[in-house]
Amino acid sequence: MSADVITLRQVQVEPPPEFAAAVTPELLQKIGLQPVPVLFLCASGEADWQGFCSSSEFTELSEIVLDSKLVEPSVYKPKPSRIVHVYLHECAHRLLPGHGHDAALFCLSLLLHLRAGKIGRHMWFAASLYDIQDDVEFEKPEPFLKRFGWAWRLATELAETEKTAEQCTAIITEKHKEFCAWLDAAPEREGAVQQRRTAAVQQQKNLESALADARADRLMFFVFGAVAGLVVATFFLWG
Ligand SMILES: [Zn+2]
Repeated sequence: MSADVITLRQVQVEPPPEFAAAVTPELLQKIGLQPVPVLFLCASGEADWQGFCSSSEFTELSEIVLDSKLVEPSVYKPKPSRIVHVYLHECAHRLLPGHGHDAALFCLSLLLHLRAGKIGRHMWFAASLYDIQDDVEFEKPEPFLKRFGWAWRLATELAETEKTAEQCTAIITEKHKEFCAWLDAAPEREGAVQQRRTAAVQQQKNLESALADARADRLMFFVFGAVAGLVVATFFLWG
């Protein structure tokens, strides 16, 4: 009886030439990134992905997955900038498991793209709002803008350093935790500031009221003094 079940195995192959020409050892060195293995799969016609990163427990070598159409001339000619962009995006996921597309992932992705420099055009163009989509809140733009600003500043700062991508990842992870705690405490902090502001306004009002009372007392004293003076003067003049 023949086996009808199709079985597949992952085997190591030579890097596709288009991939090897785009993701070079020089590029990885420039970025300070240890090579992350890649599994090429051919996405189905309806697929809406060019790459993905499964949790390491579902991989053999912590590999990321890229669509083989990215590197095989078919409908489109493979583009080095597109190959590098998808590779770096998935590498950011591999380095930052459990973050999805949050500000930390955007920070790391932007950093990797900044370090990649120019491949036809500036690669940082490719790090986009897609990378931070989980934090977008159109109804509440302020916290999102704070997260975006935090990620932008840290990425541009770290990109200039000699630190490896892995060292940068550790810093981003730590700082992101602190930043989220700071941001979560913002309503409490702003409430306390508002309370202090209200108390200061009330104190000012009390002071103004006390001054007004003192002025009124002085006026009464003056009027009383004038009347008393007038009575005394009348007594002496007519007495
Ligand atoms: Zn992603």
